[in-house]
Amino acid sequence: MRLLLDTHIWLWSLLEPKNLTPQVAAELESPDNELWLSPISTWELLVLIDVGRVLVSGDPERWVREVLRTVPFREAPITHEVALESQAVGLPHRDPADRLLAATAKVYDLTLVTADERLLGSTEFSVLANRYGGRGTLPSALDLPEALAPRLSVARLALFLDYDGTLTPIVSQPEDAVLADEMRGVLRKLAARCFVAIVSGRDLGDLKRLVALDELVYAGSHGFDIAGPDGLRMEYDGGRASLPSLEAAHTTLAAVLAPVPGVRVERKRFALAVHYRNAAEERVPEIERAVDEATAAHTDLVKSGGKKILELRPRIDWDKGHAVRWLLRALALEAEGVVPIYVGDDVTDEDAFRALTDEGIGILVAEQPQVTAATYALRHTQEVLTFLRGLVEVLDEIRR
Ligand SMILES: [Mg+2]
Repeated sequence: MRLLLDTHIWLWSLLEPKNLTPQVAAELESPDNELWLSPISTWELLVLIDVGRVLVSGDPERWVREVLRTVPFREAPITHEVALESQAVGLPHRDPADRLLAATAKVYDLTLVTADERLLGSTEFSVLANRYGGRGTLPSALDLPEALAPRLSVARLALFLDYDGTLTPIVSQPEDAVLADEMRGVLRKLAARCFVAIVSGRDLGDLKRLVALDELVYAGSHGFDIAGPDGLRMEYDGGRASLPSLEAAHTTLAAVLAPVPGVRVERKRFALAVHYRNAAEERVPEIERAVDEATAAHTDLVKSGGKKILELRPRIDWDKGHAVRWLLRALALEAEGVVPIYVGDDVTDEDAFRALTDEGIGILVAEQPQVTAATYALRHTQEVLTFLRGLVEVLDEIRR
C-alpha cells in the first residue's frame, strides 16, 4: 500500500509509537508499504513545536530535516492540481490543512492514515483508521464517578492532581494562583476518604503553602521533591548534582532577560523557570534564544516548555510519571485493588498519563482537543471541582 501519514500519525510513529493501534503500527512497519508525507505535515509539526505541544531538543527545523533524511518518506508536493482539488473535496469542515491533506491523498491515490474522526467518514479516498482517540474529543470525565462506583466499592482510589490549570485557573502571575476555598474544602473531604497527592512543577514549599492541607501528599519540582504525612519524604538524588548549573544559568538568564519587559525568571530548587505570559509577542523569539543558549551552556540541563513558560531542569530520567509510580510503590498502592486517577492540563502531565495507561485513568483538563495519552477530559477547573465533588458523593454512597 502507498500510505499518506497525517501529522499526528507521523508524530506518534516517531515519538510515541505506542499511541498507534497494532494494525496501523504493522502497516507502517511493513516493507511492502510506501510511506508518503505532505509538506502540510512538516508545517503542522513545526507549529505544534512552536506552541509547545511537541518538545524537541535543539533547533526544530534541523530536527525535522534530520528525520526526513533518515526515515525514507516520499514527498507528495502540493501542486496546482492538489490546490484545486482541495476546494472540491467533500469534507464536513473547512480546515484548510485537512482539505489539502485529503486532496493530496486523492490526487496521488494514496491511503490516508489518520486518527482524525472527521476524516474517517470520508468516502472520497481510502482511509486507514487509527482509533486510539489521542486526537478528537475525549469523553467527559463528569460521568466517571458514577461509572466507577461498582469498581470503587471493591477497590481503593488513589487520586493525583496537578495544581496550576487543574485546581486553579491559569493566571498571569504565578503567585496569584490561589486555591479557592471550595476547592480546598473538597480536597479535604477527599483526603479523608482516599489517597490524594498534588503533583506540580512548583517548588514543594510553594505548593504546600498554596494548598495548605497537612493531610495531603505533595510532589513538587515535577516530582523530584516529595513529602507527605507520617514522615513521607523523598528528594530525587539525580537532581542535586545539577544545582550548580541551575545557579549559573539563573545568573546568566536573569542578566540577559532583565531588559525584556514582562519576563520573569524564577529560581526553583530543581528548576529555572522563565515566565513570558506578560511579554510582548515579538520579544518571544529573543527569550527562546536566550533560554536555548543557557541550555546549550550546561549539558546537564534540559529545556522543557509549558503554558507560556520555558523551564531548565536537570537532564535526568525523572518526571511526573516516575513520581506517580514511586508514590504508588512507596505507599503500597500498586496492588490490583487500587484505581489510580491522574488529572492534569499540561505537557508535563502527559508523562503521568502514560505511566498510568495500564491500570489507571488519565484525565486531561483542556477546552480544545489535543494530542494526549489521557482517556477522559474535563474542560476547566470548574468541571474539575464538579468531578471531585462527584467522587466524594460516590465514596460516601459506597460507605453507607
Ligand atoms: Mg498544570
